[in-house]
Amino acid sequence: MLPVSLLIRRARLVPIGPAAAPPQHPVDVLVEDGVVTTVAAHLDPRPGVEEHDADGRWCAPGLWDQHVHLTQWTLSSQRLDLAAARSPEQVLALAAERVASLPGVPVIGWGHRPGGWTRDVTVAELDAVTGETPVVLIAGDGHHAWLNTTALMHLAMPVRDSVVRETEWFAVYPRLVTLFGSDGTSPDAFRRTLDAAAARGVVGLVDFEFGGSRDDWTERWGHDCDLLRVRWATYADTLDDVVAAGLRTGDPLPGCDDRITMGPLKIISDGSLNTRTAWCCDPYSDAHRLEHPAGQPNLSGAELRELLARAHAGGLEVATHAIGDAAVAEALGAYADTGAIGSIEHAQLVGREDVCRMAALGVRASVQPAHLLDDRDLTELAWPGRAERCFAFRWMLDDGVELALGSDAPVSPLDPWLAIAAAVHRSADDRDPWHAEQALTPAEALAASVDGQPTVGVGSPGDLVLLDADPLAVGPDSAATGAALRSMPVALTAVAGRVVHSTL
Ligand SMILES: [Zn+2]
Repeated sequence: MLPVSLLIRRARLVPIGPAAAPPQHPVDVLVEDGVVTTVAAHLDPRPGVEEHDADGRWCAPGLWDQHVHLTQWTLSSQRLDLAAARSPEQVLALAAERVASLPGVPVIGWGHRPGGWTRDVTVAELDAVTGETPVVLIAGDGHHAWLNTTALMHLAMPVRDSVVRETEWFAVYPRLVTLFGSDGTSPDAFRRTLDAAAARGVVGLVDFEFGGSRDDWTERWGHDCDLLRVRWATYADTLDDVVAAGLRTGDPLPGCDDRITMGPLKIISDGSLNTRTAWCCDPYSDAHRLEHPAGQPNLSGAELRELLARAHAGGLEVATHAIGDAAVAEALGAYADTGAIGSIEHAQLVGREDVCRMAALGVRASVQPAHLLDDRDLTELAWPGRAERCFAFRWMLDDGVELALGSDAPVSPLDPWLAIAAAVHRSADDRDPWHAEQALTPAEALAASVDGQPTVGVGSPGDLVLLDADPLAVGPDSAATGAALRSMPVALTAVAGRVVHSTL
């Protein structure tokens, strides 16, 4: 079906990059065969070309999420998060909202804590707000679930007016997959995930799913999941297969088109802050309780270099997960020694000198700003005195490191505006920004979210978004700017000229 042509009228171009000119008058943008061919004050209609009137909306290059675990995100986004519900009424409201937004799609909710509630719940009240859609709400301790009548009947269970507990519940749990007609990873489920991403302006993502094969993607691609651009990453276990197939980074996956390409080799070189396994130069504050007081590497230096060298020889870029400062330093040493190119994923805690080295080596920093919101308190606890070296985006930009933002979904939601907002306003609550000196401007955060594309112009890929608000607008303070970015309304998303989301 591709490539596709598209004419967008009266759009204000969002300037990308430090030297970009400020926005001029609205223009018409013509995409032909998937590429922008003309930008002009007014273009005549083209026969057979789909037209959309932007009516002065802001047009930017489409957004990328550079770090996604798409299968995990697809599974977790199908589960309705009930952890915040404080009463049966709040659970019912969340269930009703989900059914209204995805009518007919079975709901599995999880995480409510009925232990403190003052009354028992009934099936009848759940039926009243969910109707014919099967709904299963699993309590946070996993020991019982609140099912509506449709779900009880689908699962061939006796109809009742109370929750299903303990042994009876444990017996039915494995049969929940029958509600979805699959294990939750059907092409339909992926398509819903991709549709939701498109609605937030996403045109592409790098899929770092564990244990996946490229056949999974090839198969899915042919089943209506060819919506966004995808770069599929391999891990070490499938590296030989990829190299034997002659697949180099950037090559289309066999049997698909050029919207889905071979991505990098992914290497997980250390652990995480949460589990105290990220490999650091200094011990954790609670080192006395740890087997490895400063964390440790997952691979020896020789193993790491061997993998980088093998990938590089096979034409593959490398994405090296490194969270602690020792892991970042070691990874940079491996890039320097092997000549491999690619990214450090996370680079959460860095030495000041290593940022300069990263720039000198041309290694990209693939970072997830939304994690700083979650890790703020833990960092102060576990890495006291090191917070000024965490999520050090300002140092990276100042030194000339290429920044690429992502979500690490499902760790944070697949929504680039959350990452952009967190990079701009480093706080999730009423507290002041956490190390505001490392904050980015909206222009810098947006430029780090468009896969290196400049302002939309002739030769740009037809990967475009139309926004209802100016993404570079600066509010009275960073809290206001961040709030506006977090809720940025996306009117239209196009990939290679094909409209994949529109509210127009
Ligand atoms: Zn990840």
